Amino acid sequence: MSVARKLPPPNPTRRAPLAKADADAIPMPPEAVDGADAANPSSTSTEHIVHAVTRAIVEHRLLPGEKLVEQKIADRFGVSRTIVRQAFNRLSELKLVRLEPARGAFVAAPSITEARQVFAVRRMVEGQMLRELVAVITTAQLRGLKAHLREERDAVKRIDVQARTQLLFDFHVELARVLGNQVLVDLMAELVARCSLITLMYQSADDAETSHAEHIAILKAIEARDADAAAALVDEHLLTVEHQLTERPRAPHIAHRTRSA
Ligand SMILES: [Zn+2]
Repeated sequence: MSVARKLPPPNPTRRAPLAKADADAIPMPPEAVDGADAANPSSTSTEHIVHAVTRAIVEHRLLPGEKLVEQKIADRFGVSRTIVRQAFNRLSELKLVRLEPARGAFVAAPSITEARQVFAVRRMVEGQMLRELVAVITTAQLRGLKAHLREERDAVKRIDVQARTQLLFDFHVELARVLGNQVLVDLMAELVARCSLITLMYQSADDAETSHAEHIAILKAIEARDADAAAALVDEHLLTVEHQLTERPRAPHIAHRTRSA
């Protein structure tokens, strides 16, 4: 499936003015147009592309195995193909893109073994993350997380698959942000994006309402400053999803249709 034939995302206001009406699955952040870092424009452009492709993966607008066309992305971001290749290299390091000699770049299609390993790491990291978070979270940060969950609830209610997928995954990155540790935030963003590909390929049930209810329970434990409960709940939450993974991947295009139904 060609990236260019994708439906436009539901929130056109977030798209850059240069975007074509029927345009790509990859959103162009507005900063890519007017906020370039004059000191190091090429690294900034690379980061923008890495960020935009990662977002498109988290929102399930790019599917496992889908080809990424270098020239189209270069045109879209107004950068050279060298910059796009640098972004692909970074995305390949993050295991979100697979580079094939002479064939180009493809959205990664993780194996079930990799999927289970990613979930195992998330459980190791997020349990401890919540223990530390409970000790330091401020009232303002709690309010921010509650606001996130309200948005999540609204997206689940109106069955906005793209928004709810993004918000459900982002909740975990928002939790990481509370600790103010950028290494942890980057790691969580990477793990969450990999999980987005994994659930699309292997998840047998897509129960957004349960995921949302579990997020509410986690936040309640955080608010009650109950570190043991918060850590146990996040562990259970991740295990639930992990147990829903099937051994054989579903065809991504069918998976996508099912989720959108
Ligand atoms: Zn979750």
